Amino acid sequence: QGCSPEEIKLKKALSRIKHKIVVISGKGGVGKSTVATNIAVALSLAGKQVGLLDVDVHGPSIPRLLSLEDQKPHIGHEVIEPISYSSNLWVMSLGFMLPSKDDPVIWRGPVKIGMIKQFVQDVAWNDLDFLVVDCPPGTGDEPLSALQTLGSDAQAVIVTTPQGVAVDDVRRSVNFCKQVGNPVLGIVENMSGFVCPDCGSVHNIFNTGGGEELARETGVKFLGRIPLDPEVGRSGDEGYPIVRVDHDGITGKALNTIIKPI
Ligand code: ADP
Repeated sequence: QGCSPEEIKLKKALSRIKHKIVVISGKGGVGKSTVATNIAVALSLAGKQVGLLDVDVHGPSIPRLLSLEDQKPHIGHEVIEPISYSSNLWVMSLGFMLPSKDDPVIWRGPVKIGMIKQFVQDVAWNDLDFLVVDCPPGTGDEPLSALQTLGSDAQAVIVTTPQGVAVDDVRRSVNFCKQVGNPVLGIVENMSGFVCPDCGSVHNIFNTGGGEELARETGVKFLGRIPLDPEVGRSGDEGYPIVRVDHDGITGKALNTIIKPI
């Protein structure tokens, strides 16, 4: 069949990845990158071979979340070496390629789509059990292109917060996946209840359960809820993933529950 050399290259790259997980959200700031990073780290701690790809062209935050900001990938002849975070977790982010982390990226759709393809096919990922892809928020060019590049077996994890407005965005994300033809692995409700740093109990500031209710309504699996935990914010700022340092804390446990069905 008449496949172009580019198509053959992409197919070959994809055939080396067992499971493709695309983390999306209707909105920014709901913790999508935090969830994507911790899912990837948790899977690697469970012994899986994991790639973490950050295609959030407008706000690549994975390098900061993993304290990899100063890393520059080695670019060889037609291959880009991913940054090794541990012996079984490799990371690639547009953030590594920008001359300065403060530089904005002003690219048109086709260029962004080309970049996502390149990050899948030209990065020297090893044989992977999981490739976790952190997409920009919304249902625009990048999530669409990520799903189309990865193929119809790529599964979406949708991150939301419990507020009603965010839940409406999730509905859009679920419909988006349905239209593109990709399965939704499940919904994660983040910032669901507040963990008091003094007493350790969880207080519900917004209504919780919106994500779960929506999951029921749309027939999508509910993967779990993660509380608003000051430790998560700190771990993000300081660049150490919470599942690594606080495996048994409330949030670490919640994240580990989320990866079970994954
Ligand atoms: P997004 O990728 O959706 O834009 P981020 O993962 O960058 O969101 O998270 C936005 C901010 O919220 C970050 O400062 C992050 O540390 C913080 N954050 C995310 N999840 C939690 C949580 N469960 N508890 C406390 N802070 C959180």
